[in-house]
Amino acid sequence: MTLTLNYTYRIYPDNKQEAMLSEWLEICRRSYNYALRELKDWISSRKCLVDRCSLESEYIMAASYPFPSYHQQQNQLPKAKKVYPELAKVPSQVLQTNVRRLHDAWDFFRNRGFGFPRFKKYGQMKSLLFPQFRDNPLTGWQIEQGSASRFPRQAQVLLQLPKLGKVEVNLHRPIPNGFVIKQVRVIKKAKGWFAVVSIQSDITLPEIETPFGHFLGLDVGLSSYLATSDNYVEKGRLFFKSEYRKLKLLQRRLSRKNKRSKNYEKARKKVEKQHNHIAFKRKDYQFKLAHKVCDMGDSIFMEDIDFRIMAKGFLGKHTLDAGFGQFRDILKYVCKVRGKYFGLVDHRGTSQTCPNCRAEVRKTLSDRVHDCHECGYQCDRDVASAQEICNRGIETHSRQGLCRTETVCQVEVRG
Ligand SMILES: [Zn+2]
Repeated sequence: MTLTLNYTYRIYPDNKQEAMLSEWLEICRRSYNYALRELKDWISSRKCLVDRCSLESEYIMAASYPFPSYHQQQNQLPKAKKVYPELAKVPSQVLQTNVRRLHDAWDFFRNRGFGFPRFKKYGQMKSLLFPQFRDNPLTGWQIEQGSASRFPRQAQVLLQLPKLGKVEVNLHRPIPNGFVIKQVRVIKKAKGWFAVVSIQSDITLPEIETPFGHFLGLDVGLSSYLATSDNYVEKGRLFFKSEYRKLKLLQRRLSRKNKRSKNYEKARKKVEKQHNHIAFKRKDYQFKLAHKVCDMGDSIFMEDIDFRIMAKGFLGKHTLDAGFGQFRDILKYVCKVRGKYFGLVDHRGTSQTCPNCRAEVRKTLSDRVHDCHECGYQCDRDVASAQEICNRGIETHSRQGLCRTETVCQVEVRG
């Protein structure tokens, strides 16, 4: 097994490079839309039966016209370059991965039944993927790598990208030994430009297949961001109240501006910047929390709840703000890197079950305390859910198949 990590660095393209990158983004956007148009036309041409007349004047194609698959469309690129010479400005691999991206979105739609790929409006294409490098594209950091200090370099570090040349990069954290750069995604954000560098190593991390050590159940929620089965409760940062207040203010200002005016554009940029800022902060918070959780236990269990469905409920906005789905992904990743076991358990009724005697204890959202009428077990409501999640984790994930009495014991010892 190889280990892949994504490191994000800020990059500083000069004016010329910035103009080039922006132009590439625009070309990629148009070719994305073109490819999507082809896909959509093909789909609408199959919508009505062959022997009927299409009432909605759908685009008519020969029945033998092949489905514009990824390979089909990718093979069209060299021909398309002859007709649209501007395509040749973009490195061809970047164009290919751009088409790949459309087909990933299409496959996602076919598997899940929602999220049909959409046309991208001007400025909506924000990233370019450079999928492979023959040589290490980073220069200026290896020389001092051997020295004692953790951050030895003061020298300028440059990232070499095809057709673009060398871009200055702030390598705020060095690339660990034994890792090779596989791909680089360049992203345009309101704050500036960033490069997400995927690095890979063949060092074999032991695949953690069975739970071990100390077991920990986690419950995430809105009243407390996170509760563990060991009675630890993380209050959460009130989902960045002040940051959101500022965002609201900026949005209100934006709504008063005339569309298409210069001031509108300025205000829009500010709103985008604030969105980015909140996203950065949240991610940072979640990474730190994930490491904290890994410090507290060896086998970690969470609910298999679909947070997107939860977000459709009446607490929708708050659920999205909290980013539970992202937190679970981050935690999974951190567990992998730190050699901890991560498992999901059935979410149904975790908050309505007594972790001690497994009786059903009905609670409404406003009941903050778990108080079992069967065995008299009392504790914080979220902690009780976390303990039930832990019980289920042991039952469903443990190979030894710990029997029920033992799991009850575990909780009793804690209580
Ligand atoms: Zn009970």
